[in-house]
Amino acid sequence: MTTRYVFDFAEGDKDQKALLGGKGANLAEMVKIGLPVPPGFTITTDACRVYLKTGAAPAELAGEVTEHLAGVEKAMGRTLGDPSDPLLVSVRSGAMFSMPGMMETVLNIGLNDQSVQGLAAIAGERFAWDSYRRLLQMFGKTVLDIESHEFESLIDAMKAARGAKQDLELSAADLQELVAQFKGVIERETGSPFPQAPRAQLDAAIEAVFRSWVGERAVLYRRQERISHDLGTAVNVQTMVFGNMSEDSGTGVCFTRDPGTGEKGVYGDFLMNAQGEDVVAGIRNARPLHELEGESPAAYRQLLDNMARLEAHYKDLCDIEFTIERGKLWMLQTRVGKRTAAAAFKIACQLVDEGVIDDDEALRRVTGAQLTMLMFPRFDKSGDVTTLTKAVAASPGAAVGRIVLNSTDAAEWAGRGERVILVRTETNPDDLVGMIASEGILTSRGGKTSHAAVIARGMGAPCVCGAEDLLIDFAAKTVTVAGDGGVVLREGDLVSIDGATGEVFLGEVPVQASPVVEYFEGAIDPATAQDDLVTAVHRLVTVADARRRLAVRANSDNPEDSARAVRFGAQGIGLCRTEHMFLGDRRQLVEQLILAEDEAGRAAALDALRPLQQGDFEGIFAAMDGKPVNIRLLDPPLHEFLPDLTSLSVAAAVAEAKGEQGTVDAHLLAAVHRLHEANPMLGLRGVRLGLTIPGLFAMQIRAILSAFTAHKARGGTGSVEIMVPLIGDVRELRLVREEAEAIARELGFEPGAGTEVSIGTMIELPRAALTAGQIADAADFFSFGTNDLTQTTWGFSRDDAEGGFFSAYLDKGVFPVSPFETLDATGVGRLVRLAVTEGRETKPGLKTGVCGEHGGDPESVHFFHTAGLDYVSCSPFRVPVARLEAGRAAIMAH
Ligand code: ADP
Ligand code: MG
Ligand code: MG
Repeated sequence: MTTRYVFDFAEGDKDQKALLGGKGANLAEMVKIGLPVPPGFTITTDACRVYLKTGAAPAELAGEVTEHLAGVEKAMGRTLGDPSDPLLVSVRSGAMFSMPGMMETVLNIGLNDQSVQGLAAIAGERFAWDSYRRLLQMFGKTVLDIESHEFESLIDAMKAARGAKQDLELSAADLQELVAQFKGVIERETGSPFPQAPRAQLDAAIEAVFRSWVGERAVLYRRQERISHDLGTAVNVQTMVFGNMSEDSGTGVCFTRDPGTGEKGVYGDFLMNAQGEDVVAGIRNARPLHELEGESPAAYRQLLDNMARLEAHYKDLCDIEFTIERGKLWMLQTRVGKRTAAAAFKIACQLVDEGVIDDDEALRRVTGAQLTMLMFPRFDKSGDVTTLTKAVAASPGAAVGRIVLNSTDAAEWAGRGERVILVRTETNPDDLVGMIASEGILTSRGGKTSHAAVIARGMGAPCVCGAEDLLIDFAAKTVTVAGDGGVVLREGDLVSIDGATGEVFLGEVPVQASPVVEYFEGAIDPATAQDDLVTAVHRLVTVADARRRLAVRANSDNPEDSARAVRFGAQGIGLCRTEHMFLGDRRQLVEQLILAEDEAGRAAALDALRPLQQGDFEGIFAAMDGKPVNIRLLDPPLHEFLPDLTSLSVAAAVAEAKGEQGTVDAHLLAAVHRLHEANPMLGLRGVRLGLTIPGLFAMQIRAILSAFTAHKARGGTGSVEIMVPLIGDVRELRLVREEAEAIARELGFEPGAGTEVSIGTMIELPRAALTAGQIADAADFFSFGTNDLTQTTWGFSRDDAEGGFFSAYLDKGVFPVSPFETLDATGVGRLVRLAVTEGRETKPGLKTGVCGEHGGDPESVHFFHTAGLDYVSCSPFRVPVARLEAGRAAIMAH
């Protein structure tokens, strides 16, 4: 079967996003359910991938385009670029995942020096020349790579010459003059005239859209959103309809529910006598959708009807782009709309209550990433705050920072470690770098559908839009707040913006915990909560708890964190690091232990440490009463507890030069020298410490078990898991196990899997994973230390790589996201699966968990679910996210 590269809108449906892109698939779906869509066809992502790979469109494409174009021409009764009555088309990008504004669109293809006359005869001079002007501008920028400034400065000059403030005030003759100038720019910049042949325009625009997939903005956006660079975009070729043809034409964007709160209603913006991008670009201030009723009542009624049909059909919030041409409504785009995190939870529950979806579907529609956002703090306005203005609440969250007025500065200031708020009139795709660098975004124009708003919501960055009170002077780098004695802010001044309310405050406003966190803390009772967000989170986390197979534990090494973890729903501790307990005042004792020259000195240090450790553990057992507590024996290289070799050597050399004796302890210097390692992460650490420093692990094991005995004596319950780090071979584990069992028996415990006291190991070296079948013989449980396992599997140092070459690797697409953030399922994950499988072959039912940072990462949680682990463990704050994702993993795994 030969590959087909082109499909008519009437052929596809919404489930073909991979092939037709989201826009193409949804256009097809709208045709399928009978909504008015201008006819057209979609060129598949397959064709784009061929283009990206070979540098040329597949040979068959031209013929298929001809065939489908003929179909559209027949349906419309006009031909592309016909001199007397031209069919015009748009060429629109559209990838599998929505990348709003990241790629290119060219409108009005088919206009040239002849057909512009034909169009003028039919639809008016002004309109025709304006359309041609737009084509030259978009084609010049997108297809021919000419700086948009080249065109914009000519428009500005023309407006200045005519004393016009708005584009609309330019006459047909002015626009005709601009067309001549634009053609001049194109010829000057490219050395060839603007292509007059309609089909040549079309083919060039299609290729330009293919190329826009690898444009800088698009690449950066995909990196942010973790979208694979391999997918490619589809291209939609569609009959043009004109919102700028007359006073009874217009264009707009709308949502079936408020994307900020989930409230049902009429939400959107429109402009009369304007073409598509004018609304999104915020060129003119758009009007609220309900006012359309007065402008174009029939189209308005039909739009509301179509909105209702789309929501019922998609069973979800949809966003919609429409255009009205001389009173007739056309649907140009729809998709399941992006929404804020709060709206996602609320809408999911509303749809359950409306009987549209069930609980499982509701759970599928919210994510751990969204829950994370809801746990961010908000402003505490109880003190003295100065409100500068209130504008559109475009993307929720509280942000404080210094104002900067352009993206380059934002990136530069942030690079120096400053928190910045990017303040712009409006943003455009070139601002992406600055937006990413900023804590928050503030614009003086545009609404909820403006570029700034859409992108900020996608990034989870707080954003306030359309603050018309702010007069920005880019040259003077000041922002003046309108009104009597208006405040003048300068670049670098602190402001606080609340993207949930639209408020902008002077200076730094203190922040307070989110209600969602208060709910998890137990401070808000979900049964009586006023806040429907709290109720929605409670409902969906409860559903997740009922569905999930993975248990969720926390990483904690003190009683306070442990108690919080329990409030957040942790079912035990998955990793208690003991090294933190060796810091502070106790460093001295550790130093003594390391420096001890004989048995007696070592014993003295250990004897002093043991009761202190025991006290630590008793506190944790109390906080975790009734639950399993997994404690890892000492792991880090010992020299971490000693002074730095270089500074100590320098101090010694200086002392010697000055002839001073005894300022630097010779013992200490010798020990530091002895323990110095070129590669400490691969050196004397983990179980290697236990096997080389006599008495160290024994002391810890004794402290743990004595603490547990004391806990039980107070009526406490629960279980202890003693975990040996950095095992590479079963013999290492056996040696520690023998020692541990002896101490356990002495203290009255019989250790083993599933009992009060168990002894197991971390699997964090490839050799451990590869020999897991043997290791399981001596282990009561496995816990995957995925940080070290990632480090040792890839062979890069976590501490150095992330700051170093990782950004180049991310840019080049070696991986879409740091493997320390999301588990590398293909490589590291394969070791995890192997170890689980072979471990359980040796010991059926072997308990397995994960205790690296990955335990709280949504995507990784799904992997651990499918790999068959028993639990994940993460930082206390991420426990709710892990609970939610574990539930989602359970219902999505089939
Ligand atoms: P994006 O993916 O950036 O939203 P679109 O492909 O939706 O880009 O195009 C941008 C705008 O161009 C649309 O919002 C729409 O208003 C306008 N547009 C695209 N195709 C047509 C068309 N066939 N007729 C009229 N306007 C169009
Ligand atoms: Mg669009
Ligand atoms: Mg480790």
